[in-house]
Amino acid sequence: MFIALHVERVLLILPNSLWGVQMNHKGHAGLTLLILSPTFFLLNLKDFNSVATLIFAVGFSWLPDIDLDLEMKHRKYTHNILFAIIAGIMFGVLFNFAGLWLVGFMGAFLGTICHLLGDMLTYMPFNPLWPFREMEVALEKFESNDKIVNDGMMTIGSLAFLLYLLRYAGIL
Ligand SMILES: [Zn+2]
Repeated sequence: MFIALHVERVLLILPNSLWGVQMNHKGHAGLTLLILSPTFFLLNLKDFNSVATLIFAVGFSWLPDIDLDLEMKHRKYTHNILFAIIAGIMFGVLFNFAGLWLVGFMGAFLGTICHLLGDMLTYMPFNPLWPFREMEVALEKFESNDKIVNDGMMTIGSLAFLLYLLRYAGIL
């Protein structure tokens, strides 16, 4: 499918060291599409900045797993709401050079939040609301590298994104 291929192309620009957990990132990208497309659709967000925010959020949905790349303790410092806010501010400042601070902030923030929601469904517990609340979460619905789940999320997420794009194009 075109959209799926396009998102795969986004994945191609990820750091090489992340390829070992590629399936995981595919699932995160799919889940981000699946969460944000209907949300933006229902909120009638269909301007250029909204579409850009959604696409950047998909691109940023791998960001918390940068801890693997940096050889930090996994799912600790980069898997919480504080990191989502800091990442949002950092990319908001960066994108501000192009006059798109809100796209940068929301893209990184929402991409990180969607990543945390996906990780909460797996088996390795972490503390998503730190430092505001101590609450270890692991809903144990599936393994993070489950191929069927990751592929399924990408497929359904791509379909949801396609519907949203049709809305954006005024066809729906
Ligand atoms: Zn993660």
